[in-house]
Order: sequence, then structure tokens, then C-alpha cells
Amino acid sequence: MHEFAFAHKIYKIAEQTAQKYNAKKITVIYLEIGELTLIIPELLKESFKIATAGTIAEGAELKIEVLPGKIKCRECGKISEITITKEAKLTGLQLFQCKYCESKDTEIIYGKAANVKNIQIQE
Ligand SMILES: [Zn+2]
Repeated sequence: MHEFAFAHKIYKIAEQTAQKYNAKKITVIYLEIGELTLIIPELLKESFKIATAGTIAEGAELKIEVLPGKIKCRECGKISEITITKEAKLTGLQLFQCKYCESKDTEIIYGKAANVKNIQIQE
């Protein structure tokens, strides 16, 4: 229930903003999601619908931008962009391999965060 927990967090942030501006309704929520969070946008949208039923955010649209993951190689110091394949998602297997020297001694530097970027409200 990874997505559901995040959907609830988004709602809490949106609700706070809505209260701050005395809004009647939350219409659009813009999100940035790192690919390495493994959050599936479709599942997140579904979870959000359930989490916000009967609230100020009911019917709000989620606009999701997926940001690619990046790793830094400890061997050669170069940065590679990584894309998780469908198979990797299914098996939970992730290969964080440097694209330049093929070393597996890498660290994730980008793509593990998920943030609310902007919220559109109706006053
Ligand atoms: Zn390398």
C-alpha cells in the first residue's frame, strides 16, 4: 500500500494549503515523483480518489511528472540515468550499474523523492 500512504500524505499537504487560503475546493495537484520511488501513477490516482472521497480534495486532478533516477559511480565518478524496466519492477530486481565503466559500485543520487510541487485551489 505504498501508493495509498503517499496519496494520504498528498491529501494532508493539499488540505493544509486549502485551509491557509480559505479555499472551497482543491482542483489540481501537481506532483513530481522520482522513478526510484516505484510509485505507479495509475495506482496513485486510484488511491487518491479513495483517500479523498467526501473531502475538499474530492475530484481533484493529479498531474504527475515522473523524474528519472540517477546514480553516481564510485569507480569512475560519472553520473548515469537509470530507467527501471518492466521486468525489474515485476521481480523487484534493480540493476544500478554504471553505464560508462559497468561498475555496480554506485549510489543513488536522484529519483527517490516524491513531492507536491504545486496546488491549484478554488477560493
Ligand atoms: Zn563508472
